[in-house]
Amino acid sequence: MEKIETGKCPPEEVLDRFYVFLNEKPTDELLSPRWVEIWEKYKPYAVEQISKMTEEAVKSIRMVEKEIWEIRIDIDTRVTFLLGAGASVPSGIPTVDKLLSELWKQAKRIGHEDLDRLSGWCEEQKITNIEDLLTAAYISDFAAKNRNIVALLGYFFFSGDQNPSVRISEIDVSSIGFLQDTLQTLFGLLTSTMISTGPNPTHKAIVDFIKDHKNTSIITTNYDGCMDEALLKAGIGLKDTIDSENEKNDIDVIKLTKMHGSINWAYCDSCQEVRQFDLLFLKEIYEKDMLSYPVMGICKNCGGLRRPLLVPPLSFKFLMFPHLIDIWNSARQSIEDADYLIIVGYSFSEADVYITKIISRSMAMNRNKKMIIIDTNPNLASYLRERFSAHIEEFDQKRILGAYESCEKILPEILSHMLAKSDTRKEKKI
Ligand SMILES: [Zn+2]
Repeated sequence: MEKIETGKCPPEEVLDRFYVFLNEKPTDELLSPRWVEIWEKYKPYAVEQISKMTEEAVKSIRMVEKEIWEIRIDIDTRVTFLLGAGASVPSGIPTVDKLLSELWKQAKRIGHEDLDRLSGWCEEQKITNIEDLLTAAYISDFAAKNRNIVALLGYFFFSGDQNPSVRISEIDVSSIGFLQDTLQTLFGLLTSTMISTGPNPTHKAIVDFIKDHKNTSIITTNYDGCMDEALLKAGIGLKDTIDSENEKNDIDVIKLTKMHGSINWAYCDSCQEVRQFDLLFLKEIYEKDMLSYPVMGICKNCGGLRRPLLVPPLSFKFLMFPHLIDIWNSARQSIEDADYLIIVGYSFSEADVYITKIISRSMAMNRNKKMIIIDTNPNLASYLRERFSAHIEEFDQKRILGAYESCEKILPEILSHMLAKSDTRKEKKI
């Protein structure tokens, strides 16, 4: 105690000694009141020390549910990846919520009165979601061509209180058509700029995984070519794409299903022919600026207008794109077949209710199917557990596991753990 009182002892040591002393002293020994003074003096250090230690311990906690590290697969395990916008963010691709401001920038360059008015109005109304804008444009364009639908919309919105027939006669069908068409074209141009971006460690980790485990398929809702590029550059071919006639029947082919289209896909507005361009070649000519728009924009078949086959973020996108029905069926098949569904950076937004439904259905059909959620949102896995529990009887919560770190950091680690040789894998190889 003397050493403590003379102040020769550093605070950490005082606290240490005090703690040891309190623990070791016989229970019947009476303590000097001076200890109270000492404790009051050193208490702040104690709080600081404990919070520092706790802070360090908390920081070292991995945001990965421990059962994930225990997963081992054998050659018969079917794995399906579902990639969402979050998987492309490390490649520098903006997510949907950043797209509208980019779209208005492009619209300003065109400088059309109708577009300026629309952009000003959206700003005033604080409409910042590209999905709302494109959905409204599609509905309006569709409705404007059939005045009964406009009248009925008026009835549904205003319960027949107002007489919409006066207003209907004022509708300028061509102007609505122009706006819808321009927004679609701008959206196409906007996403075309994604062609200059490349794969990030998330895509590379998936390719490394596939090299070891061919029983894998990939679904993506991204238009960009990051996943395709990573696979093609590793010598892995793609199957079940939009243009399956051009596919090679190599041994090293992987099913890559691009549910919302792709920057290298196009369809003709007139003859409806669908084309898939060689992604790596397209990237090269884009970077060297070798082709003018009309060359790519005209259908060789019929001379009609060729459009990028991209599904804009629309609330009812699955009704609008008949070209993609086979693609969506193929995605459903990959989801149903999977033993492990690894969901990377996909947010399960309300606009993609179709995808959530097929996943929920497949989880109900196959009670051994498990999901691994890789997302920075720590609430996503628990949200899904709740959602599926409501739909699936006696749903085992452990079928959904979460890792809440950024995908480019955590996915490579998780996948290499899954591939670590398990006993069954060894047996199968023999
Ligand atoms: Zn054509």
